[in-house]
Amino acid sequence: MDTSALFKLTYGLFVLTAKDGEKDNGCIINTAMEIANDPTRFMVAVNKANYTHDMLLNSKRAAVSVLDNTVPFDMFKHFGFSSGKEVDKFADFPDVARTAGGLYYITKHVNAYMEGKIVQTTDLGSHTIFVAELEDAKVLNENRSVTYADYHRDIKPKPQAQEEKKGGYVCEICGYVYEGEELPEDFVCPICKHGAGDFRKL
Ligand code: FE
Repeated sequence: MDTSALFKLTYGLFVLTAKDGEKDNGCIINTAMEIANDPTRFMVAVNKANYTHDMLLNSKRAAVSVLDNTVPFDMFKHFGFSSGKEVDKFADFPDVARTAGGLYYITKHVNAYMEGKIVQTTDLGSHTIFVAELEDAKVLNENRSVTYADYHRDIKPKPQAQEEKKGGYVCEICGYVYEGEELPEDFVCPICKHGAGDFRKL
C-alpha cells in the first residue's frame, strides 16, 4: 500500500473560529466543504488536540474564514502554531468582524466566510467531524482560495541554506530545520508543534 496516494488529495486552508461563553478562539484547518444543499450544510474536520475542537463541542457553532492566495506565513503562525489555551489569539489581532451569530471571522486575506449551527458530530479518533447548518455567509473579495499545495510550495519558509549544507531534518509543515544526525522519535517541532512524523531527512 502506498499511503503517499493520500497526498494527491486537494485541500484548502481555513481559519476555523468558535466562541464559548466570553472566550473567542481560532485555529487553522485544511478540511472544510459544503456537503448538502437542502438544507445547506458544511462540515469541518478538526484534530482533537485543538482547543477550538472542545469549544465547538460546547458551543455548537462554527465559523470558517476561507484564506485567499494573498495570505502570508504570519497568518499560519498566528492561528496555527500556538494554542488558545495559552494565548488569546484575538487580543491584538485587528482584522476581524463578527458574524450574525456573534463569532469572529477574519477580514483580511480571506475571500469569504460562512457560519453555522452544529447539528451533528462524528468521532473519528484523531479528529471529529462537525456538520453545521449554514446560517450566515458572505463573499469578501474575488481572490482565488489558497490551497494546501500553495502553502507547501510558496508560503512556508524554504530551508534552502540548510538543504545545501545537507544533514538534519526539515519540518514539512512549517519549514523548521532540526540540525542533527538522528531526530528523536518523540521530537516535537518548536514552531508548529507537529511531531517527528512530519519531518523529512535532508
Ligand atoms: Fe513545524
